[in-house]
Amino acid sequence: MSYARNLRCRECHREYPLEALHVCEFCFGPVEVSYDYDAIRKNVTRQSVEAGPASLWRYRDFLPCDSDAAIDIGAGYTPLIHARNLGKALGLPNLYIKNDTVNPTWSFKDRVVAVAATRARELGYEKLACASTGNLANSVSAHAAAAGMEAIVFIPHDLEANKQLGSSIYNPTLVKVRGNYDAVNRLCAELAGSHNWGFVNVNVRPYYSEGSKTLGFEVAEQLGWRAPDHCVVPIASGSLFVKIRKGLDELYKTGLLAEEPKTRMSGAQATGCSPVATAWQEGSMNFKPQRPNTIAKSLAIGNPADGYYSLVQLRDTNGACASVSDPEIVDGMKLLAETEGIFAETAGGVTIASLKQLVEHGKIHPDETTVAFITGAGFKTVEAVAEALNPALEIDATMSSFEAAYSALQPTEAIA
Ligand SMILES: *Cc1c(COP(=O)(O)O)cnc(C)c1O
Ligand SMILES: [Zn+2]
Repeated sequence: MSYARNLRCRECHREYPLEALHVCEFCFGPVEVSYDYDAIRKNVTRQSVEAGPASLWRYRDFLPCDSDAAIDIGAGYTPLIHARNLGKALGLPNLYIKNDTVNPTWSFKDRVVAVAATRARELGYEKLACASTGNLANSVSAHAAAAGMEAIVFIPHDLEANKQLGSSIYNPTLVKVRGNYDAVNRLCAELAGSHNWGFVNVNVRPYYSEGSKTLGFEVAEQLGWRAPDHCVVPIASGSLFVKIRKGLDELYKTGLLAEEPKTRMSGAQATGCSPVATAWQEGSMNFKPQRPNTIAKSLAIGNPADGYYSLVQLRDTNGACASVSDPEIVDGMKLLAETEGIFAETAGGVTIASLKQLVEHGKIHPDETTVAFITGAGFKTVEAVAEALNPALEIDATMSSFEAAYSALQPTEAIA
């Protein structure tokens, strides 16, 4: 039983039944799930959420599928930590990190896949598929394995070794496409027309994107049922960026938040793939597609599906959008690891470097309660940082060998 009522076009507001449909048949606008918010308001309380499982299914009443039949490998309900050390380094005493590196397949994509896979199975699909920049393929492969479904996952051919292995271990059909993500996505859109498969981010995309709302829900709950003042979110297609805010607004609409969220939403992109940041910096509401060239491969979408809505949200929430270079991304990964003990993938480096840039440009005020979203784990992208790290000491198994190597590390002391 779900409170989802229909799919509704974001542009012309035509309504459709809750089926596998991702664009309006009338105006080609994107369709989105809408709910019976009055019924949620009547039946769902902070206490009922808090009594739920320690996973995103504690928010089942805000999701478009039957949670009793959930494909559940434990996605969601990840830690929100008060990042005192990083906050001190950046001058943000109220900085929090939402650590989504600890999901079952080590990225936030487990949220969207948990919901999309569950809904796809309800709709009768026996095979799951996706067009992926890496993390989505990992998560679809894992959820399909747990559900006993077949997975066919499509990725650009040049992904990091561990992103490929992180799918292969679950034994999907892994398809490496000679082309970038935008080519992979075009191919999957064509295949979805001729194969009766649940492509989680194509024909069942409206359900997929609902999974991202749970990040907004959790952050508000973890702050004591309070919306943050400012969120900094990495942007690939822009779906995550837009849906975090939808989550906060739904909590208010249903009475779980007492005050209307005023949360400012800021975006983070790599300069080598920055269609949204570039349009924003030029003051345009129309982004130009780009050909990606960055180490942040999980964010390398040159023609983002929700690019326009991301720009609308930046404008409407008084946010800002940063773009950061590859060396800044590496520095961001190191800074987060060295201050907070969190090893993020390149997308996390984009977020931290962007956070730093936004502070330096005066876009984030020091007293704002700010949440930076760390969406994927660092072991997936070791290539990006391996050469930027201090080498280990290699020694013989003797005291003297250790002392010699260790003292050679210490800065020589000045003689008074
Ligand atoms: C997919 C992804 C994102 C952003 O996804 P959207 O397409 O913008 O929703 C952010 N971080 C990581 C690590 C990802 O894999
Ligand atoms: Zn429409």
